[in-house]
Amino acid sequence: MGADLRPAAFIDRDGVINAERHHVYRIADFEVLPGVVQGLRQLAAHGYALVVVTNQAGIAKGKYGPADFELLTAHMRTLFAREGVQFAGVYHCPHHPQGSVPAYTRDCGCRKPAPGLLLQAAAELGLDLRRSVLVGDKPSDTAAGRAAGVRRTVLVESGHALPADTAALADHRCAGLAEAAGWLCRQPL
Ligand SMILES: [Mg+2]
Ligand SMILES: [Zn+2]
Repeated sequence: MGADLRPAAFIDRDGVINAERHHVYRIADFEVLPGVVQGLRQLAAHGYALVVVTNQAGIAKGKYGPADFELLTAHMRTLFAREGVQFAGVYHCPHHPQGSVPAYTRDCGCRKPAPGLLLQAAAELGLDLRRSVLVGDKPSDTAAGRAAGVRRTVLVESGHALPADTAALADHRCAGLAEAAGWLCRQPL
């Protein structure tokens, strides 16, 4: 492991960065949640590369296309860049085992809870997974983080409903990304 590897904060998108809605792919449906800008700024200032990791099974299901995802990603990057927040990478899984678009209908290694998106990001961006963290709104998010070997995982309550007891699923649980960033930045890097 080289000394130049950076720790990352892996962030799920829907339900963590933007309000959870069924198949968000239109710019008009992309509503940034309260405290997210400040939370991302805090994580970046603490030394984390910001990497979005998102399942986009709507592509496999034919609800929208890869170009829709790319347009929304460009919009997201622009919105946050205006606030001084840069994403080191945005990684998505377009697959689903029961899709309707043949090109994306399969088992894959990148749909969370599999760790493929995180491993790809680590290889491409030079990330130190063992000093990295993950914030998600579903147990499949934190499972992906653990499968990739990240140090800490956080579940937030701003997206999908969570089980009453998530002690076994994540290292910390809190309301949203702002609180998650606060907690993570109180831990050693
Ligand atoms: Mg989510
Ligand atoms: Zn995939």
